[in-house]
Amino acid sequence: MFKLACGDVMPGCAARFENRDRGAMLADVAGHAASAHGITDITPEILAAVESKIAFVA
Ligand SMILES: [Zn+2]
Repeated sequence: MFKLACGDVMPGCAARFENRDRGAMLADVAGHAASAHGITDITPEILAAVESKIAFVA
């Protein structure tokens, strides 16, 4: 299971994501980033920051 705490990328945000499909989780994160943080343009830098925080728990 892939897991991500949004607060690890955006301090103060309590949103958490988990999904067994990494791509699907990233899609959820992208939707959250747009609706909660106004980030509609996921730059390579943002994507790298997010991916560096993804944990995998079997
Ligand atoms: Zn967030």
